Amino acid sequence: MVTGEVPHISMKKAVLTPKAIVHERYGSNACYKIEEVLESGGSGCPGLVIPQHHKCLYRCCLELPEFSITSDTFTRKKDAEQSAAKLALEKLGIQLTKNKLTVQETWDELVARLSFLFTDQFLSSIHPLIGHFRAAFHREGDLCGLVPVSILATCDVKLKSLCKSISPKSELNPFLMIALLMKAAGMSGSISTSEGELWIWKQNLHSSDIIQTLRNQQSSSAESIDIEAIRIPCSVEKPVETLTLNVSSNEYYMDVIAQRLDVRDCSRVMISRPVGKVSSEMRLYFSAPENPLLVSGKSLEELSDVNGDANLEPLNARASYFSNQNIYGDAILATVGYTRKSEDLFHEDVSLSTYYRMLIGRMPNGNYKLSRDAILAAELPSAFTTRSNWRGSFPRDLLCMFCRRHGLLEPNFSTKEAGDANDEDSGGQGNVQCEIAVLSKEQDVIIKYSTENSFRKPNDAIQCAALKVLRWLSNELEMPMEKLSSFGDIHGIHVYPHHFSKEFSLCPSVHKVQQKSIFKKSISLGSVPVDWSNIRQENGVTSLSIEGPYSGVSPSTGSLTCISYVVSLMGEGGHRIETLETKDEFEFEIGTGAVIPQLEACITHMSVNQSARFIAEPPSKDFILAAAGESAKSLSFLSLQGCFLEYFVKVLQITEPLEDRMEQALFSPPLSKQRVEYALRHINESHATTLVDFGCGSGSLLDSLLELPTALEKIVGVDLSRKSLCRAAKILHPKLSMSSDPTAQGLGIRSAVLYDGSITDFDSRLYGFDIGTCLEVIEHMKEDEAWKFGDIVLSSFCPRILIVSTPNYEYNPVLQRTSLPNKEEDLEEKMNSEPFRFRNHDHKFEWTREQFNHWASSVALRHNYSVEFSGVGGTAGVEPGFASQIAVFRRNTPYQAESRNGDSSEGYEVIWEWSDIMSRCAL
Ligand code: SAH
Ligand code: MG
Repeated sequence: MVTGEVPHISMKKAVLTPKAIVHERYGSNACYKIEEVLESGGSGCPGLVIPQHHKCLYRCCLELPEFSITSDTFTRKKDAEQSAAKLALEKLGIQLTKNKLTVQETWDELVARLSFLFTDQFLSSIHPLIGHFRAAFHREGDLCGLVPVSILATCDVKLKSLCKSISPKSELNPFLMIALLMKAAGMSGSISTSEGELWIWKQNLHSSDIIQTLRNQQSSSAESIDIEAIRIPCSVEKPVETLTLNVSSNEYYMDVIAQRLDVRDCSRVMISRPVGKVSSEMRLYFSAPENPLLVSGKSLEELSDVNGDANLEPLNARASYFSNQNIYGDAILATVGYTRKSEDLFHEDVSLSTYYRMLIGRMPNGNYKLSRDAILAAELPSAFTTRSNWRGSFPRDLLCMFCRRHGLLEPNFSTKEAGDANDEDSGGQGNVQCEIAVLSKEQDVIIKYSTENSFRKPNDAIQCAALKVLRWLSNELEMPMEKLSSFGDIHGIHVYPHHFSKEFSLCPSVHKVQQKSIFKKSISLGSVPVDWSNIRQENGVTSLSIEGPYSGVSPSTGSLTCISYVVSLMGEGGHRIETLETKDEFEFEIGTGAVIPQLEACITHMSVNQSARFIAEPPSKDFILAAAGESAKSLSFLSLQGCFLEYFVKVLQITEPLEDRMEQALFSPPLSKQRVEYALRHINESHATTLVDFGCGSGSLLDSLLELPTALEKIVGVDLSRKSLCRAAKILHPKLSMSSDPTAQGLGIRSAVLYDGSITDFDSRLYGFDIGTCLEVIEHMKEDEAWKFGDIVLSSFCPRILIVSTPNYEYNPVLQRTSLPNKEEDLEEKMNSEPFRFRNHDHKFEWTREQFNHWASSVALRHNYSVEFSGVGGTAGVEPGFASQIAVFRRNTPYQAESRNGDSSEGYEVIWEWSDIMSRCAL
């Protein structure tokens, strides 16, 4: 008897929570989804200028394979989850208070259950095991009626859970599970095992009636079946390949697998837990090592070491990684088995591309790609800007999935509020922070991360924090483990190296090269249209051939761009081997790295209705085969040496950032146009001949100057976004070149320059202009930089007139109250969020009228300028002021030919330059 070993076995004493019970039964097949429910903050005060705070409640939806159920609302997410779990258990008729068995009782139960499985009564019931018994009785000779222990360990839920309560490790360790069953069989009076053999059989024969009945149950399809499966060789050097399991009628599929694994008989075939999707029958099959521990008579302590035994066959890294349990030797991945539903053998083909999709799906980036169904185009974005701009699975869900797939606990997300919520002066983003803890199955902390910034909405805090962790994991999991802890700390991510390497030690070897930014280089194909050849190309894209006229509507940061694309695999000679990925509509936010860099770079050079072609080095074969679908099998034999990918892309539609949409929906003409018109009035009134636009962006102001005659002769733009400058050049260049044609309408402009530089740095080439404009720029800098700009521009650049515009924070409630018709998305944004505090996620601040007055008056006074306040959108003197507030500065001192401090710094870089002389020469 086992009494001697009892003290070594620890049983969990703690009362199980509903969630824990659900986890025991369903493991990763139970999926909890938390929803935020907003409750309006009670005393809603219409017309209140300050954003009102809402109380946030949570509701949880628990998805189980059979059904899903939703909880009530709770203030804490944990409570919502427990409540959902409780409701589910009630629905399943499971009692919360489990009567705990003693160890001895558990053993007795195990022995009883095992014996019961070999009774006539069981054999006439419906159970997945019956198919295996049928196969056992079809077998002739000595092996007739013998059932592999591995099958018992795999197919009966009760045996599994009893083994697990005797030794929790048995869940992940099939050897241990088998050893427990062998021991139990030895304790039963009615069934037998024999030394070194992994069979169990009934001592006294089954009744011949039963045997006859089982034998007569022919599978309805008398034909033989072919099951596509995957072989994962133990050696990483050998490729993963497809193989066909041919099971002829009345042949036992386990025998076929045994043959393919080259083992003596099917009792020596080990079976993994299911891998992949919910209630899948996809499992790994591998050969049982000749393991001395698998014979009876070993103590439990010896058994729990089974996996640690150095005498075992070599670990199959890929298969182990894939299944989160130790797999030894060559393995076969197949979806096959008996179910309750039918007497026929259930099977599904496992294709190579299924394998590769599951493989890349274990890494955050790969999983994001899959969620977008765009393996060769999408990338896990680097930033979470707004909920409504995010496409694909949300970061939080991706992180949960990552943890589930790696056999970890659900990560812990905790949000906390810091400081005073209504502190208006803070000027910051809000006061919610999020901490994430990634936990191992043993509840050890593996990674901890706390947001550095605060957020207004708990959901934003969670999504941003989850994204940060995902990005880190995505980059670092292929690094040698020694480098991890130090690297993590730099990014505010605290790694517990010991636990980390325990969980992820196989990652680097399995994912090797594949996650590296594979899309770095691109090869040139065709040339850039000559007109803009003086624009320096941004890093990477040299390979554009753009077709179609430039329509002027091009993507900018924060806009949602919809494209269609086709990616083809091209051979060395430039012939098309295979079309790998096609999408008719693919929408993403520009500026967040939501697509591979070349694609984003390419698109920022394009406008709506244009199409382009570029080529790029192929990513690792894992991605190619995952994308390839049916053709993966033939491609897997191909060397990718010399191959490249060709991308064909068309820009279908561009949705501007929310701020622009809002401004356009509420004001006519749109606010941006009103600002430009305001500036034009001052340009005309002042008879300015030179103008500099500080933070010119894509050149919307400069462009408007070409529409109307003014006294301007020289116009200059400065910005630090090269992308925007390139776009500005593309718009200005053709217009200017046309206007100098004598027949075209004459404009007085003789030169135009675009500079790359920061307007907080002085460049003497821009000293003493007649007019400077700086529209909606300062709020994109940090507040101290805005002050610095104020000082530099008035003390060093010294324009005669300076016009500065910036959003009026007090106007936001008006913008936000007014519903935006026609676009569902806007509605969604409004419903899902509290009033957004800033108009644009890139804004570092938005000032009240008082704050703006303070800034403008202070810098004006310091540098001897006068200042007047005005604005556009709204009416002067009517609350809450203008939508865009404007300050007009005028220099009090006369013009000095030389830069005040004689400083001749020329730090800006010319990005594009045009002069009428140049143009005339060309004519
Ligand atoms: N004035 C333009 C663009 C406004 S968007 C318009 O009204 O359409 C703000 C612009 O300021 C962006 O193009 C951004 O790149 C630029 N910007 C922000 N900080 C800057 C800095 N320190 N120096 C130069 N440009 C800056
Ligand atoms: Mg702005």
